[in-house]
Amino acid sequence: MTPFFKQAAELLKAASNIAIISHYNPDGDAMGSGLALLNYFKSQHRVANFIVPSEFPDFLSWLPLASETQVFSKHPKTVSQTIDRADLIILVDFNTMARIEDLAPIVNASGKRLMLIDHHPQPDVPADWILSDTSASSTAELIYRFLDGIGKAGEINLPTARCIYTGIMTDTGNFSHNSSRPETFEIVAHLLRIGVDKDAIHAAVFHNFSANRMKLLGHVLKDRMKILPEYHTAYLYLTQKDLSDYNHITGDTEGFVNIPFSIKGILFSVLFIEKEEHIKLSLRSKGDFSVNDFTRLHFSGGGHRHAAGGKSFTSLENSLQQFESLLPSYSEALRAAYQSLVEAPAVPFELQPKPSDS
Ligand code: 5GP
Ligand code: MN
Repeated sequence: MTPFFKQAAELLKAASNIAIISHYNPDGDAMGSGLALLNYFKSQHRVANFIVPSEFPDFLSWLPLASETQVFSKHPKTVSQTIDRADLIILVDFNTMARIEDLAPIVNASGKRLMLIDHHPQPDVPADWILSDTSASSTAELIYRFLDGIGKAGEINLPTARCIYTGIMTDTGNFSHNSSRPETFEIVAHLLRIGVDKDAIHAAVFHNFSANRMKLLGHVLKDRMKILPEYHTAYLYLTQKDLSDYNHITGDTEGFVNIPFSIKGILFSVLFIEKEEHIKLSLRSKGDFSVNDFTRLHFSGGGHRHAAGGKSFTSLENSLQQFESLLPSYSEALRAAYQSLVEAPAVPFELQPKPSDS
């Protein structure tokens, strides 16, 4: 074992009660990573709990032990007690304490030992031990590397493996991005050997939406999408009324922001959602354009180069206007990013099917 992982193993060994915490609006990687650790610790007969600041989507409720997740917005007292009782807190899938919102002051004041496992750039979390790697496909991949690092890869059971697989699958958009490193597939190969049924997990996550969600998507694409071809940009927006008209539940808008990428020439896509206290932005890009930089500068946010989030504290209308007014100053950057995508096609020319093959 390397000294780095030896230190982690010692922190675990010294703990008798472990709390695992992931970020606000937890996605497949947040839930998969946190529940992977929970399932692993339970399989080792350790005392552990998994906490998230806000509710998780219904399409992740089948994950092993998901029903034991403690949701702070629903049960603040239980969560505070859990943190009180813990002597080690493992933070997963976020790079700044702001991502756990109202839990941040509680964790900061707790004085507990902290570990961080994450793949976002610029980690800024006051942890005693940090496993941070932006080249990892997902935090779930890092959970596997963590267990491997402490010599426990051979003890990963099926429920833990299913959680890890779900995190990798969702954060790579079904292996369509962030997944070009052979190591990711070596890990997946091991998960399959443990018995993960990848097709069943795909169906559980992606074939499990409500009919309302599909209708909401139709509404967004027809009436709430603006395409700005001169900036290689498209944006979508949803009002509070849209959400209530279509009986929106947590997770229904997951994936919407990626849809404009199927339009030729689009490399920058943003989804604006009107929340009660602010406008939530989801930003995605391709190629040389960093949405992390863009949202850090203009929308109090952050994330990855190609996937980030942010907030706007003005009306939806003003937020959209502000966004449009920013685009001319990025015109050159967006054009250059598009040019380099066109010049370096994702599929090498020699691999493209010949017209006669079709
Ligand atoms: P999403 O658009 O799916 O909410 O988030 C995309 C990515 O950006 C995720 O990796 C998420 O953790 C990160 N992210 C989302 N919102 C914020 C935010 O307000 N601040 C920061 N720093 N990261 C965010
Ligand atoms: Mn992630």
